[in-house]
Parts: sequence; C-alpha cells; structure tokens
Amino acid sequence: MSALFDKMRRRAGRYLDVRPVTIDPPRGVLSLSFDDIPRSAWTEAGPILAEHGVKATYYVCGGLSGGRNLDLPQFEVEDLQALHAAGHEVGCHTYEHVSTLTLSPKGLDASLARNAAWVAERLDGHQMRTFAYPFGDCALGAKAVIDRRFLCGRGVRDGINSGRADRNLLQAIGLESRRLPGYDLEKLVHDTAEAKGWLIAYGHDVSDSPTPYGCRPEDIDRLIRLAKTAGLDIRPVGAAWEQAAR
Ligand SMILES: [Zn+2]
Repeated sequence: MSALFDKMRRRAGRYLDVRPVTIDPPRGVLSLSFDDIPRSAWTEAGPILAEHGVKATYYVCGGLSGGRNLDLPQFEVEDLQALHAAGHEVGCHTYEHVSTLTLSPKGLDASLARNAAWVAERLDGHQMRTFAYPFGDCALGAKAVIDRRFLCGRGVRDGINSGRADRNLLQAIGLESRRLPGYDLEKLVHDTAEAKGWLIAYGHDVSDSPTPYGCRPEDIDRLIRLAKTAGLDIRPVGAAWEQAAR
C-alpha cells in the first residue's frame, strides 16, 4: 500500500465519523501514558510516579509480553501485575501491536477481544476501559469499533483536549526524545490550566539514553513538577475521562 494512500486514510480517520464530546474538567488535568509496554516504562518510570503519588495509564499489547520491540525488552506478566496492583490503569493497545490501517473492523475487533481475554486472565478479570491507537494510526472504520468497546481512544496528534473533541481520537503529546525538544512544556501546562483542558502525554521506553520514541526519567519528573506547579490534576486516562467528559 502506498504511503500517500495511507496518509489519505489517516486523514479520513481524523476528520470523518467524529463523535464529539465536550471536555470540561473542574480544573485542568494531565494524564501520563505509556504504550506497548517496554519494561523500563515500569522499572524506571514507576518509582518516579510513586515518588510523586501519581497514577498513569499503561497501554498493553498482550502479544508483546516477554518479547522485544524496537530492540528493547518488553514487560513481563509480573510487571503488568505489579503496576496494576499499584493502582495504575491498564488500557488496550491491540494484541499484536498492529496498525488499525492494516485491519478490517472485524479483524480489529478480534484483536481487541484477544487482548481483553489475555488481560482479564492475568489481571483478575480486569476490563480495559480506554484505548490507544498503535502508531497513532486511526482507520476510519476503526472508530466505531473503538467507540463500542471503550470510553475513549487516544491518538498521537499534538494538542490539548479542550472544549469539543473527538472521543475516539483524543490528542496527545509525545514524551519522546524526537519530539520533546519541539515542545514548550511550561506553556502547554499553563495553557491546559488556563483553558481547563486535558493534556495527555504518551511515551515508551524510559532511560538515560532513550530511543527516539522514549524519554529520560528527568523528562517525566519535570512534566509532573510543572503540572503540579500549574495546579493541574494528574489522573489516569479513564479517571480523567470520567471527570472531564460531558
Ligand atoms: Zn505502540
């Protein structure tokens, strides 16, 4: 499939079949999330979150358990159980970590069902309530599937969710070394507080020498400190949704 065709399909997913929601939390809110899940997102980021008394959302692909992705070790089942027990949200990211652009709605539904069963079996029947699109790819036909199964879906397009938003394609900033230099985090956090919006951040690996898709421990620490200084609530995606969505 051509890159141009994929680009057109991403654009269709962004602009069509929008299911509007009003984002109006009592005060600005930040959600931290980690996709896939590289092991360091728990072993390195977990202690920082604990130190700040903050809960995040971990978007899991059952099929990546105990394996490697982007040449990094991924979570083990024990990591997932530990982070779940610590009160972090476990959300859904497809079973095989495939783009929704490569799946029919039926194929996507099957992948989600497989991930749901895999997670429920390992986390005491836990039902995932929120979704993140692998690679941020949202196929038009995927949105109705996500809408049926989850409170909301998160993409990777920059921006603060505020006022009218698409419940199946929320915006998010990347806690990614390739994207972080382009952000003014202080301004983003300030604007979120001012607009009473919802800023969602997502990352992958966490290390002093992260991949282009990961960040350093101090990046997470800094964002949390900025958010607290600006008076933002910090909640996992599902809990933020419950407070913010009208
Ligand atoms: Zn991913």
